[in-house]
Amino acid sequence: THFGYRSVPRAEKAGMVRQVFDSVADKYDLMNDLMSGGIHRIWKAALIDWLSPRPGQHLIDVAGGTGDIAFRFLERAAKVGGEGAKSFPARVTVCDINAEMLRVGRRRAADRGHLSGLTWTCGDAQFLPFPDGTFDAYTIAFGLRNVTDPQLALNDAFRALKPGGRYMCLEFSHVVVPVFDRIYDAYSFTVLPGLGQMVAGDRAAYEYLAESIRQFPPQDELAAMMRKAGFENVKYRNLSGGIAAIHSGWKL
Ligand code: SAM
Repeated sequence: THFGYRSVPRAEKAGMVRQVFDSVADKYDLMNDLMSGGIHRIWKAALIDWLSPRPGQHLIDVAGGTGDIAFRFLERAAKVGGEGAKSFPARVTVCDINAEMLRVGRRRAADRGHLSGLTWTCGDAQFLPFPDGTFDAYTIAFGLRNVTDPQLALNDAFRALKPGGRYMCLEFSHVVVPVFDRIYDAYSFTVLPGLGQMVAGDRAAYEYLAESIRQFPPQDELAAMMRKAGFENVKYRNLSGGIAAIHSGWKL
């Protein structure tokens, strides 16, 4: 434990995660902006830049929640494709275990004018409800940390991708800058739960968040897990000194 918070036992994790996202779904996007000072937008843009969407691609965005990655993917693919992209549009299947998050996502899609190209599916990252070799690309943003068994989710990602498909994970990671890591820890375990209490009325949800970040495998360990799942050419990039990281790998 850290700063006196207990770690979340494995058996309780799935229920805890469900309750957290049920409770924050409506405030989720606002909280993201507040807690990160808007920086999550820059990280998501970095993920999309590295992935470089193309017209005609079929992405599965796992733990896709309220649709941030999906919207950006579609918008970028349409932009790079120009007029030609209209006859060969990109598609995104958003898959999340939480129906409340998906409900908010659908509403936002309508608000942003995404009337086609999106499918919303309730499903578990560890047991994706899709046949082998379905997708050109797989993204999971701030999701893998919440999955009970991340290795299972990596294995199933590999299965669901087509040969030649690309896996990308954006996740909170481990700060690699001395002193800054201490400051960040203090922020995570004091300021963050306080903000959660004030804005979402749920302190425990944000204590869970801090603890789940602490327990998540460091950059090199996650890269090793990806290789174990079968991915090749595995690389990662640190964002904001390692507060977050993007991992990339290929099913070859
Ligand atoms: N990707 C979105 C983003 O970047 O804003 C949402 C991230 S949110 C922090 C984490 C999401 O993971 C929640 O919507 C939650 O319901 C989902 N989730 C948790 N466990 C999951 C699982 N086993 N399978 C699929 N989704 C899961």
